Amino acid sequence: MKRTLMEKLLPRFLEYVSIDTQSDPYSKTTPSTKKQWDLAKKLVLELHQIGMQEVAIDEHGYIMATLPSNVDQNVPTIGFISHMDTTPDFSGRNVKPQIIENYDGKDIVLNKNKDLVLSPNYFEDLELYIGQTLITTDGTTLLGADDKAGIAEIITAMEYLVNHPEIKHGEVRIAFTPDEEIGRGAHKFDVEKFRAEWAYTMDGSQVGELEYENFNAAGAKIEIEGKSVHPGYAKGKMVNATGIANEILSLLPPREVPEHTSDLEGFFHVYRVKGEIESAEIELIIRDHDASHFEARKQLLKDITEKLNKKYGNCVHLTITDQYRNMREKVEPVFHIVEIAQEAMESLGIEPIIKPIRGGTDGSQLSFMGLPCPNIFAGGHNFHGKYEYVPLESMEKAVKVIVKICELTAVQIRKGRKKGKN
Ligand SMILES: [Zn+2]
Repeated sequence: MKRTLMEKLLPRFLEYVSIDTQSDPYSKTTPSTKKQWDLAKKLVLELHQIGMQEVAIDEHGYIMATLPSNVDQNVPTIGFISHMDTTPDFSGRNVKPQIIENYDGKDIVLNKNKDLVLSPNYFEDLELYIGQTLITTDGTTLLGADDKAGIAEIITAMEYLVNHPEIKHGEVRIAFTPDEEIGRGAHKFDVEKFRAEWAYTMDGSQVGELEYENFNAAGAKIEIEGKSVHPGYAKGKMVNATGIANEILSLLPPREVPEHTSDLEGFFHVYRVKGEIESAEIELIIRDHDASHFEARKQLLKDITEKLNKKYGNCVHLTITDQYRNMREKVEPVFHIVEIAQEAMESLGIEPIIKPIRGGTDGSQLSFMGLPCPNIFAGGHNFHGKYEYVPLESMEKAVKVIVKICELTAVQIRKGRKKGKN
């Protein structure tokens, strides 16, 4: 790839992370914070400048743009998506990135005053990047590689394709969304307007990551009504809501919690309990990759509720709210979209790392909205905190993967579409 275009990747990324775009779960607007517009407006200008077509931003801050097809035959429209916001969990204001060239494999001092180091003894992934250029924080903020690395990669890849008409590709659509970190990135995404047959979120971590499986997810709230009576005269009369809450917790499987599970093991995660005699409340989340296990977990909560309602007289109220679903069932019928990404990586000497996500992505929601959407690495590590870093070389590889996917989509169609396998 031409040096001059790749050279824009780093300054582009540094410019984006200098703009604070933290989202806010308590806000009711979209985008949830006004400052996300600062980056959005900049990106719209830049998309015009690099020669993208149909550059549009809607009233909710969703940006879309088109790279027109340069082939005569019918090639499916594909898309690339990343998000503009950073997590509410850690400050993204006044980010001062440090650039470590030719990383020597030793501790990196993030902040002398705070005695903060980024160490391969703790973060072993660092050893993968010896000799490379690392971009880190100064220990006071997050970096924002999640997901500004993805934005910089998509724009750099599009600019490359605009400048290299000899590379044949179909129509490519790109989108940048607000509020992914608060679970709303897909909420106001206009799938019909996007008109891609499938897309990829550029929002994964380590180079090579390719994900098309995630949790099925629900949240649950259990409210318990009690009856307060003087403790000395309470026999047969008092209903202690906190006691019942405790009984409910004791009926959940003790090993099926986040701290004891990995890979494809699901869990219940109780994250908030409050209680008095008159009332108590338990809030938890349910996660499982397997749809039938997921349903069984919800059923267990219903059974516990029923049992205690019989015992104490209808004082337990359960509400379960589905949050997102495993995109696998939507991606498997069109498995060639994973295979194209896999082939793109392999042809560039990148080993694909395919594993289920223990979480969700915007892609899972989009998949159920009719846009199958696996997730590809953007290159960063240690998201959502001061140890976040990204190797420049991983970002460059992501740019090449995007270009290659565009190219392969056109080639594969010319050869006849590969059939999905189940
Ligand atoms: Zn992200």
